[in-house]
Amino acid sequence: MNAPASGFVFPSHLEGLDRFEPGKPIGEVKRELGLTNVVKLASNENPLGPSPKAVAAAHAALADVNRYPDPQATELRAALSRKLDVPVSHLLAGNGSVEIIDLVVRAMLGPRDNAVTSEHAFVRFRQIVSAHNRGARLVPMRDWTHDLAAMAGAIDERTRLVFVANPNNPTGTWNRRGEVEALVGALPAGCLLVLDEAYFEYADDAEYPDGVALVRSGAPVIVTRTFSKVYGLGGLRAGYAIAAPEVLEAVLTIREAFGTNAVAQAAAAAALDDVEHVRRSVQTNRVEKARVAGALAERGFTVLPSLANFVTFDTGAEGREVFRRLLARGVIVRPLDPYDMRSWLRVSIGTPEENTAFLAALDALGLGTPR
Ligand code: PMP
Repeated sequence: MNAPASGFVFPSHLEGLDRFEPGKPIGEVKRELGLTNVVKLASNENPLGPSPKAVAAAHAALADVNRYPDPQATELRAALSRKLDVPVSHLLAGNGSVEIIDLVVRAMLGPRDNAVTSEHAFVRFRQIVSAHNRGARLVPMRDWTHDLAAMAGAIDERTRLVFVANPNNPTGTWNRRGEVEALVGALPAGCLLVLDEAYFEYADDAEYPDGVALVRSGAPVIVTRTFSKVYGLGGLRAGYAIAAPEVLEAVLTIREAFGTNAVAQAAAAAALDDVEHVRRSVQTNRVEKARVAGALAERGFTVLPSLANFVTFDTGAEGREVFRRLLARGVIVRPLDPYDMRSWLRVSIGTPEENTAFLAALDALGLGTPR
């Protein structure tokens, strides 16, 4: 590696690592393109906003931010414990669920260990594993879905983690109960399944597995979930995990002492209680997802079935270019070339008005072959 002018030499495994590319912020697009109306459908956020109850709790918590947060997140974990019917000892709060994924990688993977995930799985899995200089094995998907049997086959004596996002981002596809149970049954001793359920609240399929039930049954599974999606608190960074206490203890020994910030803890606990806000958010998503997916299919695009709050479709063109042209019209979506899906785009489900604006912008580009 060439030493930079400063004389610093960085570890060689950092060479060639790709950085996570977040959805473009609205303010940046407005400034860069001189637009006043910008619709962001790029980060799978809740278009209805956060629960007013969570906002009120966040305001109240601000008065005490001279104090460090409760490192145990006692109230938030107690609220989760009541809601999920799992002991507090099986719950961990994180600075977003991705922080927990990072901690699990650090706690579980020794220098020669590896993790198994799939080719088009949530990109943070392989990025985090690689950032810690550990091996990531990427198994091809089947029909744009995690091929759990093939993933089980890719496990070797050095595999300590298997990552499955269910439903997966960016494909929206999911694995059924039987498949997940078979994978759990195939895990060798000492190997942990990380089941990322960031979108589980939207998953309305009878065959969708209950990750928490797997943890309760003593299976070697850690379930990660988030307040960034249906709860509308992405800006505060709060997530949680459900796992056996010994796994969470290992994670806690390496975690920064205070974990989730005080405002996020308060807002997340209040958000959990606002059942009506969640119900309305899920319902809006269900209706609008069907409309957007239907409209895309009508225009001749291939659309993946999605159990989440976004849909992924094949533009039949260079996705990054279509993304740029939509951006110029004030609609931010997600190009999927970082996922090696060059002709695909992912669009989050917004409010009815936002979705209509997206479809109108797409129509203006003259893509697709109407049926
Ligand atoms: N997991 C998956 C599968 C996701 O799509 C996302 C959001 N991009 C996250 C986790 C991130 O969650 P958090 O904001 O809690 O870190």
